[in-house]
Amino acid sequence: MERPYDEQTLVHDVIIYGHPTLRRRADDVSVFDDDLRQLVREMFATMEDYDGIGLAAPQIDKSIRLLVIGVPGEQEENKEDEKFYLAVLNPVITSSSGSWDFEEGCLSIPDIRETVTRPESITMEYDTPMGEHRKLEATGILARVLQHEIDHLNGVLFIDHLSPIRRGLLNGRLKRLERDSQE
Ligand SMILES: [Zn+2]
Repeated sequence: MERPYDEQTLVHDVIIYGHPTLRRRADDVSVFDDDLRQLVREMFATMEDYDGIGLAAPQIDKSIRLLVIGVPGEQEENKEDEKFYLAVLNPVITSSSGSWDFEEGCLSIPDIRETVTRPESITMEYDTPMGEHRKLEATGILARVLQHEIDHLNGVLFIDHLSPIRRGLLNGRLKRLERDSQE
């Protein structure tokens, strides 16, 4: 899939754990205009600049229900650069199934990776940047990234899914991140 932005596209700063926007419930998007579509391009450019596979708008301090993903394509094994790009607005997970352990990280929680258990497959309804309503069935990595990014729209972070013991072991590092982000 062709890159959905160009070299001139603005790259935003990703905010880090401790910033209050990461804990806020983001607002629905109701206006689908050129400003929104420009922001979507900037989200893609920011995600790629940070080498991420997903990015939610709250991570660039915009508290709206928008996320972008760019995951490796599954069919095109010969083309390593091929990615599946998707911009998602107002997502709602309508069903999910299975259970899968997979290691996650987050651009807003640098240098921490932990195994998180989530449903393996989901069905999601969402709006496109043109305001069209769509339905998507996803499994594996795609379903995983979508669930992680949708959590961001609800002020939820992947560390919230860990057991109290695992979470407790991260406390020192999280406190340090929190301190750094407030300086
Ligand atoms: Zn994240």
